[in-house]
Amino acid sequence: MSSEVTRATFDEVMVPNYSPQQIMPVKGEGSRIWDKKGDEYIDLSGGIAVNVLGHCHPKLVAALQEQSQKLWHLSNVYTNEPILQLAQKLCDATFGEKVFFANSGGEANEAAFKLVRRYAFDNYGPEKDEIIAFNNAFHGRTLFTVSVGGQAKYREGFGPIPGGISHLPFNDLSALEKQISDKTCAVVMEPIMGEGGVFVPDDAYLKGVRALCDKHNALLVFDEVQSGMGRTGHLYAYMSAGVTPDVLTTAKALGGGFPVGAMITTAKIAQSLVVGTHGSTYGGNPLAGAVGNAVFDIVSEPSFLKGVLEKRALFEKHLHAINDEFHVFKEVRGKGLLIGCELVEKFQGKAREFMKAGIQEKVLFLMAGANVLRMAPALNITEDEIESAMQRVKSAVATVVSVS
Ligand code: PLP
Repeated sequence: MSSEVTRATFDEVMVPNYSPQQIMPVKGEGSRIWDKKGDEYIDLSGGIAVNVLGHCHPKLVAALQEQSQKLWHLSNVYTNEPILQLAQKLCDATFGEKVFFANSGGEANEAAFKLVRRYAFDNYGPEKDEIIAFNNAFHGRTLFTVSVGGQAKYREGFGPIPGGISHLPFNDLSALEKQISDKTCAVVMEPIMGEGGVFVPDDAYLKGVRALCDKHNALLVFDEVQSGMGRTGHLYAYMSAGVTPDVLTTAKALGGGFPVGAMITTAKIAQSLVVGTHGSTYGGNPLAGAVGNAVFDIVSEPSFLKGVLEKRALFEKHLHAINDEFHVFKEVRGKGLLIGCELVEKFQGKAREFMKAGIQEKVLFLMAGANVLRMAPALNITEDEIESAMQRVKSAVATVVSVS
């Protein structure tokens, strides 16, 4: 058997649940990627909001190399220094007092959803089991997380799914007011809806959700898997909204490309996950801890976070200029470097065509549903890279417009 692999190998040996682009990236540095042919691309997709410091950041590489020569894995039968340091940093920087580590966003959410049920069970009894979540929300791909997620297509054919979950329209306080009751154990939401279309809810709505949760002794869970770790120009999005959740999940950017997820909560709530109630073989791995510490130390610097907001302004300036010329965007929205460009009526359903045209122009970006172009670049992308990427986006837009 030949050791040469190509994109065609994917179709031969991989389960067909993905349909990756035809290019085969082999190397990355900062916000640039090179494919097997040697072609260079500017990456505005950031590994889907993961590569918060770009590809192969020297400090992350050094942290990983150093730890890789000390200790790789222990399991949770023992603890380790890097992960405790990261937990301490997360607790110091947020409302949190306790952390549970997992390997992904979906697993962090799975832990959060189990915790809120268990906390209600311990404190109020088995009747208080309803989880309220939102249409179009995305929380991961495990059976529980697709069930709490608000996109029916992701749970179709996988039933029976866990019960006791209701879905409401997002950013609609009166809908929540009608549904929430003393039977509700938690309201679960993304403080900025990512996959569902990059929607930023009103701060007043978030405050209203918090008040309704308090009234009914329901916990408020913020899924900050996409919005967290500097993405919005704040360490976590809740910090600028003036609303503090009871449970927060974080992943993606937390490891800057190394798989790690975490659930953060208060000491009181954490008491419901006593020894033996939940676990993960790899969660809290020393390699993840070492890289997570390196990411945290850079991203949590106030000057770094300020830079995110300045870069957003630059993106906006260019995207609005592109729109003035081509009239393709109904709205440019999001916060910090989580950017969503909703397409106007004429181009509805065509986000994939824009994305493909982008690849032709050597700029990589994402979609958030069929109507929204999404950009989630590295937070340390340079001004020159933004300028160059926007030129390429402009050419891609021109191509799609010219054939429509
Ligand atoms: N929650 C949110 C808000 C996400 O955007 C994602 C992934 O896109 C997840 C959870 C799932 O994370 P993972 O794919 O790491 O399981």
